Amino acid sequence: MTAHTKPKVAFFDFTGCEGCQLNKLNLEDHILDVLSLVEIVEFREAMDDRAAHYDIAFIEGSISTPSCVERINDIRRRSDVLVALGSCATRGGVNAMKNLMPIDDVRTTVYGKDKYLFPTLPAQPVSAIVKVDHAVDGCPMTTREYLHVFTSLVLGKKPIKPNHSVCVECKRSENECVFERGMSCMGPVTRGGCEAQCPGVGQYCIGCRGFVDHPEKEAHLEVFRRHGLSLEEARKKMTLFNAYGWSDR
Ligand code: SF4
Ligand code: SF4
Ligand code: SF4
Repeated sequence: MTAHTKPKVAFFDFTGCEGCQLNKLNLEDHILDVLSLVEIVEFREAMDDRAAHYDIAFIEGSISTPSCVERINDIRRRSDVLVALGSCATRGGVNAMKNLMPIDDVRTTVYGKDKYLFPTLPAQPVSAIVKVDHAVDGCPMTTREYLHVFTSLVLGKKPIKPNHSVCVECKRSENECVFERGMSCMGPVTRGGCEAQCPGVGQYCIGCRGFVDHPEKEAHLEVFRRHGLSLEEARKKMTLFNAYGWSDR
């Protein structure tokens, strides 16, 4: 990319529901500004074109088949900057729930006698296979955070990754804590950046953005204990989006 050319940007989907990609198409008021800053060279949801090189490649979905491994290696070789979008890409996401069972049992359950026709691997985040330069967490990722990462990269700046718990944003928004209404919430140990979306509408956080770095485990566990939630119950709730590498925790 030179100072006078627009960065070539591409979007790719792997194993996921494509909800994060659809969120990008939902940029509404910002879409024309975004398009004026870059040249979009590949985006299956919106166009048929193909390109040989990408200044920035955005990846949605987890890596869960041998062909996914081959494809992500190929994309990495042709990309200057690679960004993982959404929980599936950043942490294996809900797909990694299958990793908690023997992979052959999963194949039998899903494909029955045809299981040999469908090679599948334990679901992995993109970073398990190739170098990831930046990540946007969440299921789905939020449009606001995506725009921050997108514009930072296009302007040659380093995006800021939030490293505080969801509780910080929840308190800032003056939400009523859902623990006070008898629910259990994973906000104390979950990385913020979503503006506490779920507690903001009266729901509990289920940890879709993964753990905050270095959670103050004892303090957070004390919150859980105070509200009658055992460590085992809390761990189970976090498994929904964080099953990849779970046995190492
Ligand atoms: S992170 Fe969530 S919304 Fe995005 S692709 Fe995965 S399941 Fe879909
Ligand atoms: S525990 Fe949940 S509801 Fe309570 S303050 Fe934290 S994020 Fe908000
Ligand atoms: S509140 Fe929790 S579950 Fe809801 S979007 Fe934020 S991190 Fe995800």
